[in-house]
Amino acid sequence: MIRCVLFDLEGTLVDFQWKLEEAEAELRRAAAGVLGGGPERFAGLNYAGIWKAAMEAAGPALGPRMEQTLGPIYDRYDMDAATRWSLRAGAAPTLTRLRELGVPMALVTNVGRKATTRILTRLDIDRGFGTVVTRNDVPRMKPSPEGIHKALSALGATAAEALMVGDSLSDLEAARAAGCRVAIVLGGESTEAAIRAARPDRVLTDLGEILGALCEPLECRKAGRPKAQSY
Ligand SMILES: [Mg+2]
Repeated sequence: MIRCVLFDLEGTLVDFQWKLEEAEAELRRAAAGVLGGGPERFAGLNYAGIWKAAMEAAGPALGPRMEQTLGPIYDRYDMDAATRWSLRAGAAPTLTRLRELGVPMALVTNVGRKATTRILTRLDIDRGFGTVVTRNDVPRMKPSPEGIHKALSALGATAAEALMVGDSLSDLEAARAAGCRVAIVLGGESTEAAIRAARPDRVLTDLGEILGALCEPLECRKAGRPKAQSY
């Protein structure tokens, strides 16, 4: 039985605005600069993969310097995206309904704490999230499952009780690694073809579609008539 929902932020609750190519090129150059060498060693890695590879290559000796070099770059692109973020259609009513139903919710995002706090407040969607796990709260970003583990621990829930809702293959892989079911909304970071090929438990065109799958079992449970989960 699903009893809590974990949401991604960018591309899922707000539209995708990160300047991916520009940011990733800058991160590759900066990480290579710390290690000594060219950016090609990070070729093919996305922003999360660059961080993971850079921190592993840096090790204990260069780790702090790598963090101090890359951290502000992520933050700068977050804050740039934050100037353009707006709520995706369906996000506000879906969050409101889940809150009314008493469904525990957490945010698990690769965006940093500063931009996350700013946007949740600006868009007035901070109330439903008792737990917010950002890039700054975990050693590795999604697709590593650490953020999901941390959110589940804070919610007091098991992976089997959680649904991860995201917009990217990173969300899907993180959810699978953690053992959660996963719904991916189209129109965000990953292409529809890539999402469908990866076969998430649900593909959504609007966030409100998770209510149909969740509300009925939740309301039945409240009424004492458990019903099979449709996932
Ligand atoms: Mg996303």
